[in-house]
Amino acid sequence: MKTYHIWTIGCQYNVADSRRLAEGLGKLGYASTRRAEDADIVVLNTCVVRQSAEDKVLGRLSSLKPLKKKRPEALIAVMGCLVDDILALKQTFPYVDAFLKPSDVEGLIEFVKGHCPSAADLQPPISNIQYPISCYVPIIEGCNRFCTYCIVRLRRGRERSRPVDEIMEEVKCLVQRGAREIVLLGQNVDAYGHDLPGQPDLADLLIAVHGIEDLWRIRFLTSHPADMRERIIDAVARLPKVCEHIEIPVQSGDDAVLKRMVRGYTVDQYRRLVARIRERIPGVSLATDVIVGFPGENEEQFKNTYRFLEEIRFDVVHVAAYSPRPGVAASRLPDDVPQDEKERRRRLIEELQEDIAGEINQQLLGETVEVLVEEKHRGKWKGRTRTHKLVFFEDTPPLSPPTLGGMKGRRGKLAQVKITWAGPWSMQGELA
Ligand code: SAM
Ligand code: SF4
Repeated sequence: MKTYHIWTIGCQYNVADSRRLAEGLGKLGYASTRRAEDADIVVLNTCVVRQSAEDKVLGRLSSLKPLKKKRPEALIAVMGCLVDDILALKQTFPYVDAFLKPSDVEGLIEFVKGHCPSAADLQPPISNIQYPISCYVPIIEGCNRFCTYCIVRLRRGRERSRPVDEIMEEVKCLVQRGAREIVLLGQNVDAYGHDLPGQPDLADLLIAVHGIEDLWRIRFLTSHPADMRERIIDAVARLPKVCEHIEIPVQSGDDAVLKRMVRGYTVDQYRRLVARIRERIPGVSLATDVIVGFPGENEEQFKNTYRFLEEIRFDVVHVAAYSPRPGVAASRLPDDVPQDEKERRRRLIEELQEDIAGEINQQLLGETVEVLVEEKHRGKWKGRTRTHKLVFFEDTPPLSPPTLGGMKGRRGKLAQVKITWAGPWSMQGELA
């Protein structure tokens, strides 16, 4: 049997693309294999958002050279945000058979068909792909914004929205295969639809997807503070399946830094947006991204970010040290915050956030929350609340003996769980 191995790093977009690729290769009769060394096709789905991600990708790529030497018939393909200048990449990595632009899953499938003419006549399609309970569905590719630190917009191009019908088909198909939660994806999901006939927006799409039977929950990410319109906030407030969780990167809590980042809003505009969201969607959880050590960020500007995070009290903060990327506008500014200072600022924010998240989650102690169960993990059920908090719980009384039914029993179901322990990153509970 022919096999494939997909290695994925980076954002949810790459996870979604790798899932679509696995599906396509399954249709050609390929089965997944855990070790790259055993695979007939090895795909690296790459990310270069920061130098650290790019280093991991280059390390993984180099590790495939001996594999190709040993088994020249194995195909090696690279896709994702590493892929920019294909000619230059081919010269640097001659042992790679194909480079494909981010999200070009169809191109990769065509390449496989072309290089393995018998692919379509292989064994019957493999249908053993285990679909996750929560599936990512890209709705808009690319980004029209100009954040000066960002390489993603350069690699993924201008915005292209997928038609509502196409998205609906994909979601229905995933639900038929067991998905119960859908996460609609875009680099700027709030920009959805402006390039489509009739200009449907994200709120229209949420309403349409909401009508799909047997789908329990809907999420979307990532929102842009300058593009999050009332209609979207309203849709979250009104539609029961749309979860009270919004990912809305602030990046900095200082106006001068935001301006140099060309984010398109001020701290005060962001503050007012959060107030409107919290007013309209009670109990909403908010996640954000922050970059520390952006060119020219002084101690006072960093403190402004720190104080802003203390003020807003996000549920989740993803913090990253600024990493200069080739070709982006900020690469023309001096990278003048020393690495150890960036690291110090990053750690300070992580420590602050650990306290805040711990305190927020403590408020759920003794409360009963609805958990969508995703899988079993070390003997416990693992799932998430509507607000995207991770919860582990045991069956009480245990579903014993641990029959197949017991193992699979709660997967994809909604459980009412009473929280008995709460930490900053996860919670434990028991069936209510
Ligand atoms: N489109 C989203 C947005 O508007 O924030 C996400 C884009 S990016 C793929 C994900 C996160 O990576 C960003 O929110 C930012 O915090 C971080 N990031 C992007 N470029 C970076 C850089 N050059 N250095 C450090 N972090 C970066
Ligand atoms: Fe990059 Fe900004 Fe677009 Fe996000 S909104 S992808 S950070 S340019």
